[in-house]
Amino acid sequence: MTRNLLVIGSATPRMMDQFSKMFTVHFAEQGRTLAPALAGKADQIVAVSTYGDRGIGRDLIAALPNLEIISSYGVGYDGIDVQAAIDRGIMVTHTPNVLNADVANTAIMLMLAVSRRLVVDDAYVRAGRWAREGAAPLRRSIEGKKVGILGLGRIGETIAEKLQVFDCEVVYHSRNPKPEVSYEYYGNLVMMAGDCDYLVVVTPGGSATRKLVGREVIEALGPEGTLINIARGTVVDEAELVAALQDGRLGAAGLDVFENEPHVPEALFAMENVVLTPHVGSATEETRRAMGDLVVENIVRFFNEGKAVTPVPECRGM
Ligand code: NAP
Repeated sequence: MTRNLLVIGSATPRMMDQFSKMFTVHFAEQGRTLAPALAGKADQIVAVSTYGDRGIGRDLIAALPNLEIISSYGVGYDGIDVQAAIDRGIMVTHTPNVLNADVANTAIMLMLAVSRRLVVDDAYVRAGRWAREGAAPLRRSIEGKKVGILGLGRIGETIAEKLQVFDCEVVYHSRNPKPEVSYEYYGNLVMMAGDCDYLVVVTPGGSATRKLVGREVIEALGPEGTLINIARGTVVDEAELVAALQDGRLGAAGLDVFENEPHVPEALFAMENVVLTPHVGSATEETRRAMGDLVVENIVRFFNEGKAVTPVPECRGM
């Protein structure tokens, strides 16, 4: 009997080729409830392929009585109710490391784009203003600046390494210091923000980090400071961020993630000191292929060898 797999959201053609060799594949739009058309198949579904934001909630997990593995596309898994999975002995996997380089590149791309006003200057040329009005204004360099990384994990460390090329002074804040790195550790996020030119946010999302970057942190970063968020929109208090940018209490921002994606506060659209990208941190052909391959490999190895490749930390002992 072929096994059944539920794809929540979508899967790439390359992933589908692999899935269809092993499974009968079904689709669901989102990870909260099961569509009535699938109700009769619920007890045959043994694997779920999902991704960070769609995730899978407790109700849908409960509706799949024979589910054995949830394989997620992406490193962040804040959309998955991991505790509900663990309560049922269901394995949860994600795709760490393969995306470190491109997500780090996105952070640095945003730092450069904001500081050098790349988008503004591009528009200046396209509008014919260079020829009419002359040279564009001078911009700020990222060379030699002090960069505070909030969350020096896999991606945070990759950003720190890449910033050495720009002679940046890297410091960091997380809940625990990392004795193995030489960057200065700040136990206090507000103090770090106050000392830095850039604050790069790269923690997981979820309740533990909700609005970690609030008014106090934003004001400490200040009118000369730049906030880069490539983590999750929920980590930054978005209303405070918009207000601080409007009042000049924060200098600039580069944002890849937002509280209510794909909806972005329209107040940001007119700001020249802000660069916005549509949650594309890992969105290159190369990295997305590697992520898809790991989603498939986790499922294949789990069923063939009884062991997944990259379980989320909470499932490592399973
Ligand atoms: P990771 O290796 O687990 O690193 C996370 C870091 O955040 C750790 O240093 C951790 O240190 C710190 N942290 C966790 N909770 C914290 C808290 N409450 N306060 C302060 N620091 C905290 O994860 P990663 O692989 O680098 O990925 C990080 C996140 O990037 C993902 O979870 C995802 O949300 C985001 N991401 C975004 C994109 C995108 O497209 N924009 C792509 C990939 C990933 P401690 O445990 O010591 O606190």
